[in-house]
Amino acid sequence: MRQTIKTPRKVKMIQCIKCQEDMPQLRLTQYGYKVCVNCSTVGTKRGVPVMRGTGDHTWTETIIMEEDQYQDFVLATAIERGDTKAVKAEMLNMEAEDKNLQGPFQIINNMDKDRS
Ligand SMILES: [Zn+2]
Repeated sequence: MRQTIKTPRKVKMIQCIKCQEDMPQLRLTQYGYKVCVNCSTVGTKRGVPVMRGTGDHTWTETIIMEEDQYQDFVLATAIERGDTKAVKAEMLNMEAEDKNLQGPFQIINNMDKDRS
């Protein structure tokens, strides 16, 4: 019996069109990604519920957006509301993601600092 163990997963692998590394074919067939996780700039998709219509005729639509679009959306919404706390929290959150730190994120409240 001749068997070479190349990957621990029993998944059919195809080549990433960008870096030529192996990636699960499922990524393409199921999710439509032609590149591997490392090459993909696409994060988790987010759904944002948005209220439409006026008066008695309102409905909720869920807008699906990419992770980076969602971050922008959250930030823009917070700025619109003048919610500086949320903006700060969001920035800390993104910073932590960049550095690949483990949560939970520490929310620093600069306003308390001025008081003491
Ligand atoms: Zn790749």
